[in-house]
Amino acid sequence: MRYAILSDVHGNLEALRAVLADAASRADGVLCLGDSVGYGADPGACVEILDRRSRAIVAGNHEHGVAGLLGLDWFNGWARAAAEWTRERLDDDHRAWLGALPLVSQVGDATLVHASPEAPDEWEYLVSPDDGWSAFPHFATRWCFVGHSHVPGVWSLGSSGPEFEPRPTVIGAEAGRRYIVNVGSVGQPRDRDPRAAYGIWDMDAGQVELRRVTYDVQSARDKIVAAGLPRFLADRLAAGT
Ligand code: ZN
Repeated sequence: MRYAILSDVHGNLEALRAVLADAASRADGVLCLGDSVGYGADPGACVEILDRRSRAIVAGNHEHGVAGLLGLDWFNGWARAAAEWTRERLDDDHRAWLGALPLVSQVGDATLVHASPEAPDEWEYLVSPDDGWSAFPHFATRWCFVGHSHVPGVWSLGSSGPEFEPRPTVIGAEAGRRYIVNVGSVGQPRDRDPRAAYGIWDMDAGQVELRRVTYDVQSARDKIVAAGLPRFLADRLAAGT
């Protein structure tokens, strides 16, 4: 079984479609790590596609913000404006769906969680090497797939010591090691590479490939501007920041 692992789609329909097209011949199913909405101009379409396609999906802070489970004070100004805009655009069914997603899910030998597995509803970011290593006691599976920072990376622990790789491409599981993988963001990459990011997890081969996909950034930007969302949210897509 091979899964496409998508995180932080953020209402970017152009990026989501490009990633699903890239994954079509490479994966048998889809797993989603949250933040399906917020920032982008197509939250409803993204929710419907991810609901239909995902074998498992967990909530991010943006789902909780839009569903009313997390106070918008928690967000910065751009994120708050986007959350308020998104909340108005979605219907009751969409909002109920967002609010009902679990914080953690397990698929095979992997834990899925949006932020840190230590306390998933506190939305801590895993950024530094130490951030990741200290999270290992808080999940029991071999793999833990995370999003939230929008920056790909892999942390691992095993008998030969801890390792951290900031821009991995292929991660092959070694005997006795466990892994936390941030698959990056489909809809708003922040590692100065504007291409959409996602992962392919081959369960049987014990391998994760992190892929980048070119998509129609200009259309996604134009829709954000036309929707009256903050212009910064459009411009950052082109810069990948
Ligand atoms: Zn996000």
